[in-house]
Amino acid sequence: VIRVVGILCLISVAAALDFKYHHAEELEAYLKSVHAAYPSLTHLHSIGRSVEGRNLWVLVLGRFPTHHKIGIPEFKYVANMHGDETVGREILLHLIDFLVTSYGRDPVITRLLNNTRVHIMPTMNPDGFEATKVPDCYYSRGRYNKNGEDLNRNFPDAFESNNASIQPETRAVMNWIKNETFVLSANLHGGALVASYTFDNVTGSSKGYSRSPDDDVFIHLAKTYSFNHASMYKGTGCDNRQTFPEGITNGYSWYQLEGGMQDYNYVWGQCFEITLELSCCKYPPADQLEKFWRDNKVALIEYIKQVHLGVKGQVTDKNGDPIPNAIVEAKGRPHVCPYRTNQLGEYFLLLLPGTYVINATVPGFKSLLKTVEIPDTTGNFSALKQDFSFPEVSVRSRAASCPKIPLYQELEWASAAVKPTLHHILVLMTVLLVIFQ
Ligand SMILES: [Zn+2]
Repeated sequence: VIRVVGILCLISVAAALDFKYHHAEELEAYLKSVHAAYPSLTHLHSIGRSVEGRNLWVLVLGRFPTHHKIGIPEFKYVANMHGDETVGREILLHLIDFLVTSYGRDPVITRLLNNTRVHIMPTMNPDGFEATKVPDCYYSRGRYNKNGEDLNRNFPDAFESNNASIQPETRAVMNWIKNETFVLSANLHGGALVASYTFDNVTGSSKGYSRSPDDDVFIHLAKTYSFNHASMYKGTGCDNRQTFPEGITNGYSWYQLEGGMQDYNYVWGQCFEITLELSCCKYPPADQLEKFWRDNKVALIEYIKQVHLGVKGQVTDKNGDPIPNAIVEAKGRPHVCPYRTNQLGEYFLLLLPGTYVINATVPGFKSLLKTVEIPDTTGNFSALKQDFSFPEVSVRSRAASCPKIPLYQELEWASAAVKPTLHHILVLMTVLLVIFQ
């Protein structure tokens, strides 16, 4: 009887989440209570520690929360990397509450969690949050980590060498990205109301817009958030000076930054990430949190569903053994650091509905090409499935670590602007690579 009462208490504790700010101890207690109440639906772990030694907690939700399953894409939300931008931190706790209490009751949430593994990190900068003593709408020192570093300027950069020393919080996230097959994510901030997408940085002539090869997908992702948000799509700026048409912007078009997390995810993590600015006031009074949750709830859910866009599958050899590190890309969308299969031979490519040629390549073997017709799949909670099977046995592909030096510097995506000499050099290099492997 005592045990039953105890479980009921845990459930009620987990369900009763107040609209107030949860400091480090309360946040940890809340996450632990959720995991205790929903042990088979959640997995709680720390991916590292902050400078001051606080755990960087991640709660994972899904039908199989402790490990990756073939075909189930990994999704993540990260908030509060700027310690004084606090709305994301709290609404992610409410998202957790909503997901666990809806699972098994709401058919959409049940299907979503049966077919997606959702990783939620309410704070990437717990020290900065604790250092911000009073709610304040404007910029404060709590933005930075304990070493005074801006974590959203702290990642390796695809366009220029980033000389900032990599902080423990950044390193933890980089390792996390390396260890999971993340496909889609968002990074929650405050101080504006807009969905911003990669690239944040550029070199050379950009004409005010730094376009990635997947620009169409990024615009769709950003609009999915802004149009499902209570007001973001209106694009009204915070200061009556800057407005954002449809509530979205290319990161660089807004302002250039180096070492940001979204570019890092896209270039090195094979993960499409956008940056969500959720509140004009960075650290609003707690009595506004309930409204922020209501304004963002639908958008947060609809955005997760987008992880099922496009095409996914496994690359195997003649014996059916998975081929890790095979390059799988859509024609016309070359990632400078090509997207590769994981240890299980899996790939995930986010693409809008349409016709595409998908290319699976293992250096030294003939590439496999497949034309696929991609329907809108997000409502089915599964991307189109397309496997590739090489006709040879024991096909091995070497793990090619992407260079840590800037990659996009010399490349221009804007069609005819590609310099012929550089293009030829790249082709030659690729040919040489294939020969030497
Ligand atoms: Zn920020």
